[in-house]
Amino acid sequence: MAQHTFLIVGGGLAGAKAAQTLREEGFTGRIKIVGAELERPYERPPLSKGYLTGTAERDTIYVHEPGWYDEHEVELRLGIRAVDLDAAGHQLTLEDGEHLGYSKLLLATGSSSRRLPATDLQGLYYLRDVGEADKLRAALATGGRGVVVVGAGWIGMETAAAACVNGNVVTVVDPQPTPLRAALGDELGEMFAELHREHGVDLRLLSGVREFTSSAGHVTGLITQGGETLSADVVVVGVGAQPNVQLGESARLTIDNGIVVDQALRTSDPDIYAAGDIANTYHPMLGRHVRVEHWANALHGGPAAARSMLGQHVVYDPVPYFYTDQYDLGMEYSGYVEPGGYDQLVYRGDRRGRQFIAFWLKAGQVVAGMNVNVWDVTPAVQGLIRSGRHVDVEQLTDPDIPLEALFSPAAATR
Ligand SMILES: Cc1cc2nc3c(=O)[nH]c(=O)nc-3n(C[C@H](O)[C@H](O)[C@H](O)COP(=O)(O)OP(=O)(O)OC[C@H]3O[C@@H](n4cnc5c(N)ncnc54)[C@H](O)[C@@H]3O)c2cc1C
Repeated sequence: MAQHTFLIVGGGLAGAKAAQTLREEGFTGRIKIVGAELERPYERPPLSKGYLTGTAERDTIYVHEPGWYDEHEVELRLGIRAVDLDAAGHQLTLEDGEHLGYSKLLLATGSSSRRLPATDLQGLYYLRDVGEADKLRAALATGGRGVVVVGAGWIGMETAAAACVNGNVVTVVDPQPTPLRAALGDELGEMFAELHREHGVDLRLLSGVREFTSSAGHVTGLITQGGETLSADVVVVGVGAQPNVQLGESARLTIDNGIVVDQALRTSDPDIYAAGDIANTYHPMLGRHVRVEHWANALHGGPAAARSMLGQHVVYDPVPYFYTDQYDLGMEYSGYVEPGGYDQLVYRGDRRGRQFIAFWLKAGQVVAGMNVNVWDVTPAVQGLIRSGRHVDVEQLTDPDIPLEALFSPAAATR
């Protein structure tokens, strides 16, 4: 394949891992990564955790050492956006007008923060890239500042924790009754609410933003939908993300909540693939398409797409996984639950002491599991989900019975 050029659009985790896999699998053609950011590929999770609080430094976030790209003959075109994709002509156009040809192309353009209207104010942040994280880190570092976080999702709650740990006075505003409700439901959302309240965070729930207040172009706070005025030195908006599908649109790919791909991460064009946040992937185990905006999906999806580009037989069907760290609470979540997609939520371990595993069940089968301050159980939780076995709830919630015994006959007889 020496004559081939494989083009990767998007210099994030999915793109960088795809390039690595192409070389590991013996691809000797040209590999180019086009990335809109000036930074070489890095991981975003630290931006709302250790990097934001100042406990992790810049050199810990990158996917590869700076010399890795030259050593592996991976050409990096950074700080430039691709603006058009001509699938029939096999050509990508960059914003400076340059055209790049390709044999196969991977779309790994990730997502962008969803923005609220009229939020072009100093002191108001959307946390998506490291440049924004640097500014926010500096704003939070001294402590003692009034911080309002809009949105009680993952990024909002992690940012609230980071701001609080740095000694700021933090308020979170969200129209939902509990934080993280869409992902976890009310019962476990309330656990996160309690955790934050214990650390002094003021949660203003059931309350959205009516408007931001400002003075001389600098945010001074906001007025809630209930008419309450909250003043702030710093406002962070975390109200979700949307997939960057513009190139897919210009190439006339099938788009529906991201770029639609099959289980081998192939788009509707035979030479274009998609991975990471942008891909709405057919998942054989779930029997439907899912778009997963999480780190593990970029980490594993990029390599899977690379193997698919090389013509290997690929079935990409990992159990969806994500994690969070807030204060002294670490958790991992495996599985996928649609709204109303479970009929039972049960616990193994110490729920009040926040050291437990939660299981979501539907018709007796485990569809998702979340371990909180309990470690090294993800393979077992995922094995249980993947097995599709009907489980006995008494056994499932009994910490003395190994989880493996519930789905692996070999473990049961050991
Ligand atoms: C602050 C933060 C914290 C997070 N924490 C967690 C966590 O704790 N756990 C977890 O599981 N997940 C977490 N995530 C989610 C995780 O980081 C993402 O799922 C992951 O970054 C997706 O990787 P990606 O490579 O698909 O896309 P991205 O990381 O978004 O990278 C895509 C890249 O493509 C570039 N690009 C876009 N359009 C173009 C174009 N037209 N031309 C050229 N380049 C383009 C973008 O600028 C970007 O650099 C977090 C995300 C953020 C923002």
